[in-house]
Amino acid sequence: MKRKVLIIYTGGTIGMEKDYESGSLKAFDFSTIASRIPEINLLDCDVTLSQFSIPLDSSDVGPEHWTAIAKIIEGNYEDYSGFLILHGTDTMAYTASALSFMLKGLRKPVILTGSQLPIGDLRTDAKENLLTSLYYASFYDGDEAVIQEVALYFEYKLLRGNRCIKASAENFDAFKTPNYPILGQSGVNLEADRNILYRAPKDEAFNVDLHISKKVFLIWIFPGMNLNELESFIKASEIKVLILRVFGSGTFFSDKNIENILLNIRANGTEIVIISQCISGEISIGKYDNSNIFKRIGAISGGDLTAESALTKAMHLIENPHYTESFGTLFQKNLRGEMSN
Ligand code: ASP
Repeated sequence: MKRKVLIIYTGGTIGMEKDYESGSLKAFDFSTIASRIPEINLLDCDVTLSQFSIPLDSSDVGPEHWTAIAKIIEGNYEDYSGFLILHGTDTMAYTASALSFMLKGLRKPVILTGSQLPIGDLRTDAKENLLTSLYYASFYDGDEAVIQEVALYFEYKLLRGNRCIKASAENFDAFKTPNYPILGQSGVNLEADRNILYRAPKDEAFNVDLHISKKVFLIWIFPGMNLNELESFIKASEIKVLILRVFGSGTFFSDKNIENILLNIRANGTEIVIISQCISGEISIGKYDNSNIFKRIGAISGGDLTAESALTKAMHLIENPHYTESFGTLFQKNLRGEMSN
């Protein structure tokens, strides 16, 4: 049986070409993709294209677009074997993370890819990324999809979407999952490590939960930072979750004035989540005395979450009427393979 893949083209370098007058990269009409990569017609799957009316640089992609993509997948879920999202690389890790939380009980592959060089460039990475992603999006063992999660394919590697960071603005090998192994490699054979792939709980039916709140804010802590205005800012902008990207395994200033500011923020009903500035490793509250402040103020550990995953998880969970457990309990649970237990 021929598998069917729906390509959702959102924009990014992969769909751009050089405008020879201005010298800048501009989006081209993506419906002409098959004439640019005729190999698409040789694949053992049928491909249909759905595209955003205006292709976006991914720096303009946000919650509205995550919702739009999730709705397209929901509306086409039964008709396709897999989904391939073509997306700019700059915020691809955010979109992948957000979708992983919005798509519950997923049993089909949702693959994101893009490229560092436009498709028309002689040295482009777009062709390989696109063609192999289509393979992964239609990779089945009999009736069962091998990939049943939101994953990102780039430069011969398949990675868990909500574990990804964009690690290089220049290398073809642009994405990393520092706290999780690579899900699959494309060499002579297409491989996937079946022992580490995500599987939704058996009793969880496919269901799209579009809830995404914008009342989340993230701050990168740095030595000597002035946090005096933080409380009034959090109050005025009605932030419900404040994510602090703190030092190392979870250390922070011992200054009592700053502790009081954070206590007041908590007393006003805002959750405080702690994640690390380090690329790999995890938060360990209590390891150093300078992390005990987080016990005293009732902060939530983000474990080994990436910033992209912590942000989108908080956006999805805060004030979400579809969950009954508290934000803190849910946030510290591994919902879609995004964090280690
Ligand atoms: N600025 C582009 C984007 O993220 C970069 C890329 O696609 O690689 O849309």
